[in-house]
Amino acid sequence: MAREVELRERLRAVEDRIGRACSEAGRDRADVTLVAVTKFFPASDVEILAGLGATDIGESRDQEAGAKIEGLPQAVRDRIRVHFVGQLQTNKARRVARYADVVQSVDRLRLVRALDAGRAAAQQEGAASGLLDVLLQVDLGRDSAVRGGVADEPAAIDELADAVAAAAALRLRGVMAIAPLGLDQAAVRRAFDRLRALGEGLRHTHPCADWVSAGMSGDLETAVAAGATHLRVGTAILGSRPSPR
Ligand SMILES: *Cc1c(COP(=O)(O)O)cnc(C)c1O
Repeated sequence: MAREVELRERLRAVEDRIGRACSEAGRDRADVTLVAVTKFFPASDVEILAGLGATDIGESRDQEAGAKIEGLPQAVRDRIRVHFVGQLQTNKARRVARYADVVQSVDRLRLVRALDAGRAAAQQEGAASGLLDVLLQVDLGRDSAVRGGVADEPAAIDELADAVAAAAALRLRGVMAIAPLGLDQAAVRRAFDRLRALGEGLRHTHPCADWVSAGMSGDLETAVAAGATHLRVGTAILGSRPSPR
């Protein structure tokens, strides 16, 4: 009960921030999706958030996410969209393709192939229905070794986009990035503007790729101002995690 009160308060505070950012940017709140990132927090928090109206949940560590999501009561699972947002090893892709609705962190061809094969198998076994939505994670700060992402080069991005579009079990939905470390908000804004421009470029050939996932607890206002359609917010809703991401 105490946890529910706490999550309700924090969710409301984040909602207020998003609402203010949308009105300042002249944007419709309905055009921005809040993804509550629940990594390191228990399934009971996911249930509480779903009860409070959260529609989208994010996870970034397969070792905990699989059991957590698969263990949710079906009625809860049916009400939420699950986004995998973390760096993903190719050998974990099959499992993630079964329980996720969206994978936001696709950054290499081998991962595209593994997710496609995994989703196709899950569909055949009746373990997943529908296509797996995919975002291309772009490395805006040349720190892919730390946080993943395809290089910010049109040729590399186009190659990956075409591979996703050609994969029978995947659907290309757009782009995602994490702001490079250590930037002030003006520089974060430029990075997010760049991401949005890359997304627009993608839409010339892939009209459905209109999602731009940017912004976390510390920079969600900047992301809204830069046109993000998806915000991935952990700490500001759930509280601080036991260890850094
Ligand atoms: C953990 C995580 C988030 C949430 O970060 P907060 O700063 O806690 O809001 C967002 N995106 C990704 C990829 C993450 O791993």
